[in-house]
Amino acid sequence: MKKEFFFKLLDAYQRYHHSAISTKRFKYEQIISAINSLTTNQRFFIEKVGYSFEERTVYLVQWGQGDTKILLWSQMHGDESTATRALLDVWKFLDADDDFNEIRNDLFIKTTLIFIPVLNPDGANLFQRRTVQGIDMNRDAVKLQTPEARILKGAIDRFNPEFGFNLHDQSPYYAAGESPFPASISFLAPAYNHAKEINTQRENAMSVIGFMNNLLQKIIPGHVGRYDDTFNPRAFGDNIQKWGTSTILVESGGYPGDGEKEYLRKLNFALLLASFEAIAHDASRISINHPYDSIPFNVKDRFFDLLIRNAVIEIAGKAFKVDIGINREEVNYYDYSDFYFRSIVEDMGDLAFYHGYEELNVNGMKVKTGKCYPYRFETQEDLQQADFDHMLKNGYTSVVADDAALAKPFCDFPVNLVHQRKVKTMEFNIKPEGPADFIVLEELEVRHTIVNGFVVNYSKTGFGVKNGLAYGY
Ligand SMILES: [Zn+2]
Repeated sequence: MKKEFFFKLLDAYQRYHHSAISTKRFKYEQIISAINSLTTNQRFFIEKVGYSFEERTVYLVQWGQGDTKILLWSQMHGDESTATRALLDVWKFLDADDDFNEIRNDLFIKTTLIFIPVLNPDGANLFQRRTVQGIDMNRDAVKLQTPEARILKGAIDRFNPEFGFNLHDQSPYYAAGESPFPASISFLAPAYNHAKEINTQRENAMSVIGFMNNLLQKIIPGHVGRYDDTFNPRAFGDNIQKWGTSTILVESGGYPGDGEKEYLRKLNFALLLASFEAIAHDASRISINHPYDSIPFNVKDRFFDLLIRNAVIEIAGKAFKVDIGINREEVNYYDYSDFYFRSIVEDMGDLAFYHGYEELNVNGMKVKTGKCYPYRFETQEDLQQADFDHMLKNGYTSVVADDAALAKPFCDFPVNLVHQRKVKTMEFNIKPEGPADFIVLEELEVRHTIVNGFVVNYSKTGFGVKNGLAYGY
């Protein structure tokens, strides 16, 4: 049997991976240079389509001469960058001259692909959801109070595309229905009215989603979710569907071990190109046998980064059993182009029906907060010499450090650093929203140590803690 285009794309992906950008955080200027590099290929038509609130140029990239117009827009939420990276790869594919030429030329004749990458460049450079006006532009489809929303509305009016791909990222903590898997990719064919009616346009969007879901089920079975289709009168997807474009929402969520979402980016790349090809060969082919309704709904906040099961904790001398769900929040750092982790207890109690990207079943062992090592470290150099292995095995999760050692809000050691004046605040009960620094005891022996939400790994090289925190820095 002939291998499907989607799987061929996955096999050949390395050729099209725009490797200069391979993390979630990048600067908009990097996208502009990628766009500019396309101008040497006459098949691409590049246009400045408007300006953001802070006067950053927003670009429109066009490719193809076909009657079927497909419009794609990404990163209207500045911190949702997975699909933008996939678009770089899609362009690299379209720009190439290789054994995919037959399909490429066919797409060029049958479709016109119109891309608006990074609709919210100001928010993207701050790695924040909203525009700098403080507005969620996905709730501005009607009032159009942001220049970014006016750019998108202008493109819809001008091209009146047959299909629209609304590209986003969602929380990694959603589950795909009641499955034990995260919703790694979620879809929605938004409703265009409160009655959630289905006209031809919406049905076509559902068909394309069904087609994409079938492909995904072959490689990440059970990891696909669907959004609830309650009509949102302010949102772009819902309105664009209403204005007559078959609108498809694609949301990249979480996948185990894919913190920078490079795997999900690769899936976006192959899904988009496979959809273009399916759409180019008429909607009737994709509308058969692709039941949209079979995709389970997203279940919110069903995952934690780390789930400690069956812990016995003690408050005021009374012991009881809980599960502890810990999330590792990413805090923007260094001009928003890097981040560190700050972990908290997200929930505790009976979490039997929840899941962890990482799980630790402590089977009724006692879990306590870690101790603060009494010796004071004056400098970073002193800390380099410290015997962390010894400290961790003896129940310490933080050390006292002077100003000179507290250089930034986090540290690259497998412990937290605490300024003298903050030492008292390091004594706490395990509680929701509280820090995630624990020791797990079997009798009096330390069996596991958790520092800033990471399980310390004694057996391998390195401790496995991405970063400790610096309190009082
Ligand atoms: Zn979004």
